[in-house]
Amino acid sequence: MKERLLNELSDVFCMNKGEYNLTKFQDLQLSEALVKGVLKMGFEEATPIQAETIPVALTGVDVLGQAQTGTGKTAAFGIPTIERIDSKARQVQALVLAPTRELAIQVAEELNKIGESKRVYALPVYGGQQIDRQIRGLKKNPQIVVATPGRLMDHMKRKTIKLDEIQTVILDEADEMLNMGFVEDIETILAGLPAERQTLLFSATMPPQIKKIAERFMKSPTIIKVKAKEMTVENINQQFLELREGQKFDTLCRLIDIDSPELSIIFARTKKRVDEVTEALIKRGYTADGLHGDLTQSKRDQVIRRFKNGTIDILVATDVAARGLDISGVTHVYNFDVPQDPESYVHRIGRTGRAGKTGTALTFITPREFGQVKAIERVTNKKMNRRHVPTIAEVLEGNQKQAAEELIERVQAGDFKAYTQLATELLEEYEAVEILAAALRGLTKEPDSTPVEISYADPIRVKRQGGRNDRGGYRGNRSGGGERRGGGDRGGRSGGGGGYRGKRSGGDDRRRSDDRRRSDDRGPRRPRD
Ligand code: ADP
Ligand code: MG
Repeated sequence: MKERLLNELSDVFCMNKGEYNLTKFQDLQLSEALVKGVLKMGFEEATPIQAETIPVALTGVDVLGQAQTGTGKTAAFGIPTIERIDSKARQVQALVLAPTRELAIQVAEELNKIGESKRVYALPVYGGQQIDRQIRGLKKNPQIVVATPGRLMDHMKRKTIKLDEIQTVILDEADEMLNMGFVEDIETILAGLPAERQTLLFSATMPPQIKKIAERFMKSPTIIKVKAKEMTVENINQQFLELREGQKFDTLCRLIDIDSPELSIIFARTKKRVDEVTEALIKRGYTADGLHGDLTQSKRDQVIRRFKNGTIDILVATDVAARGLDISGVTHVYNFDVPQDPESYVHRIGRTGRAGKTGTALTFITPREFGQVKAIERVTNKKMNRRHVPTIAEVLEGNQKQAAEELIERVQAGDFKAYTQLATELLEEYEAVEILAAALRGLTKEPDSTPVEISYADPIRVKRQGGRNDRGGYRGNRSGGGERRGGGDRGGRSGGGGGYRGKRSGGDDRRRSDDRRRSDDRGPRRPRD
């Protein structure tokens, strides 16, 4: 059995469709209520992992699913799970284990949306929230519980949760749970569930530890792997710039002045920072707007439209908000905050250098984040070039050059007949050089130091080697070993690949929480550094 599974795992049949196949939810043999729920969420077509997983999981067999983040794994297990739930039975029939509080909440929200029309209810249960409140919640008999392992163990010990009617258990972001040291908890939990059940496991990577869990706790799982497209960062000039947090904004302005990007996207870590950076840029005279998950769909559409048609030339966004954005002509990507993991990095910079054009990606790194440069280089297999913080003199030079270019453009356009008379008169009185210099000065943007407010952000922490006590934030290094490095599908969320970029109509557009700093669900937090 062990042999066979291991072979199967190493020799996974890859469902690499290249381009996304168009599977409608209506074609997936789902009940009307579920199709309704999904369409109401604005999903039009199933993502590849959904198209592959849903029919298989509906039959009740175990599934081991692997796909990059952002490919819609939640609905991939949520839809068949909810379909199989008896909405009349008021007992916990499905259990989802998720690594963090944020993810538990997010998954429960998504499941509640999918299950709304069928009246299936999911309750998130996580550490940090008052246990009494959760006990009250559990007494209301949700059909699905989405829990972090530590807190679920608490409830099991207190006998405040009944798990003997569980038909389906889902391990979501399994690699992340293992990284966070939840192996033993997961084993204990799985051992305590009814043996007659369906087990679904989803993960972005498949390190050996996951295979072990699969061997022990799953019954001949069907393996579904959606391979991300090979990433292409070839035509992107990747730079990084080491600086202090407090220097970021002024440096950003200087870089924009020097590089004068046609269209640029600035990535910031949280919604709050997106708002702050956007406001600050506007204060300094740039045409910018922000994009994040708190905006209404119509506001989002408006911002994107304005960016696409050039009304604004700087878009400030969170990772999630920019997910799926396909905008041509982005010449520069600025990572105001370094991304949480190399995959997001690849995804971010893939906004530029599209359709055969070259692009520039520049990443701000605070001294303590330096490890990220190495992690990114490992994943992209390409060196990032160091750039220094530009001086005021360089900015001025850049701005002057731009003014000169603008002037020359106007000369070439030849549209100044109405001014020639005045120009001739001026030339009789002054030296040509003086007049031209003065005109250039008028056209040149002086470096602007209008005060702005950007709140401080903690550096991203690079995860150290080790287990349980190590619940830092950094997702990138999580496989610890070769899993990400050598393989053909590493990174993979770039150019046109990876993260789900398919169609999505109106609907609510909720996204993964912006701030993915992990919250631990048991015991005291490790103090920040
Ligand atoms: P993963 O778990 O693979 O990282 P999620 O399940 O969190 O991905 O989904 C990522 C985003 O894509 C979410 O905002 C989700 O609502 C959205 N999404 C999922 N499936 C679809 C779909 N079929 N069509 C449009 N958007 C989708
Ligand atoms: Mg997920």
